[in-house]
Amino acid sequence: MSSSSTSGPIICDVCWHHCAIPEGGVGFCRARTCRDGRVAAGNYGRLTSIAVDPVEKKPLAEWHPGCRVLSVGSYGCNMRCPFCQNFEISQGGAGGVPWREVSPHELVDLAQDCARRDPTVIGIAHTYNEPLVGWEYVRDCSELAHEKGLTNVLVSNGCASTHVVGALAPLLDAANIDLKCFSAEGYQGLGGCLDDVRATIETLGTSPSCHLEVTTLIVPGLNDSEAAMRQEAAWLAEIDRSIVLHVTRFFPRWHMADARPTPISCVMRLADVARECLPHVHVGNC
Ligand code: SF4
Repeated sequence: MSSSSTSGPIICDVCWHHCAIPEGGVGFCRARTCRDGRVAAGNYGRLTSIAVDPVEKKPLAEWHPGCRVLSVGSYGCNMRCPFCQNFEISQGGAGGVPWREVSPHELVDLAQDCARRDPTVIGIAHTYNEPLVGWEYVRDCSELAHEKGLTNVLVSNGCASTHVVGALAPLLDAANIDLKCFSAEGYQGLGGCLDDVRATIETLGTSPSCHLEVTTLIVPGLNDSEAAMRQEAAWLAEIDRSIVLHVTRFFPRWHMADARPTPISCVMRLADVARECLPHVHVGNC
């Protein structure tokens, strides 16, 4: 993290936005702040959502089927997808959404409790909002969770700097990364950076300890071309043909509440296109 002895804004290096944050202010993600001249995760340990979910709901289709994970999220996100399914927490800040403080020790204790009561609970998932804007909490919880024999799951837009993903990769047992489209312009329109997401997928897709699945939500007009899906699937296959791809159906939400759901036939057709390169393709929300 960048720091300085001056009282001017400090640059956050967690993602491509490189926000200049004044003392006490927040970055574009509304999660990171500047305290005592240093950038910090203002949302550290502040949980807005906590639930025990089947791994299939993350979605993870080919990792410990039938098991469950204690799933937690905070607030904040560094993207602005108009179709966000979790906009209440992803686009909220500290004052906009209720949260409660849960330390890494408390979270791991809770997960162990859940696992004692239900042996299908095998770990903790960081999900719901964008976990990487508060990556230090993911790191601290994941280190403790491994010490206690629990697994760690990350569900993320993957839009973070390489030093963040590199620090977390050895701690992750499974991840699902959104690949929202395969165009730099498309990503810019959503407030993200395709190159960073590609780097994240390459890092996790080649990590010996992390099972990787990728999700592409098919939004009409954004990413529903066969050519783009063919390019995406070919690129994923170059990294590792065993990467699992979810091709999922969009439902109207947030700024796209008036849009129509993606036709099921479109999702099925694009999944078939992806199967030309990848043997593990699943459809979702159909
Ligand atoms: S993580 Fe947040 S504060 Fe840091 S650069 Fe990205 S959007 Fe800005």
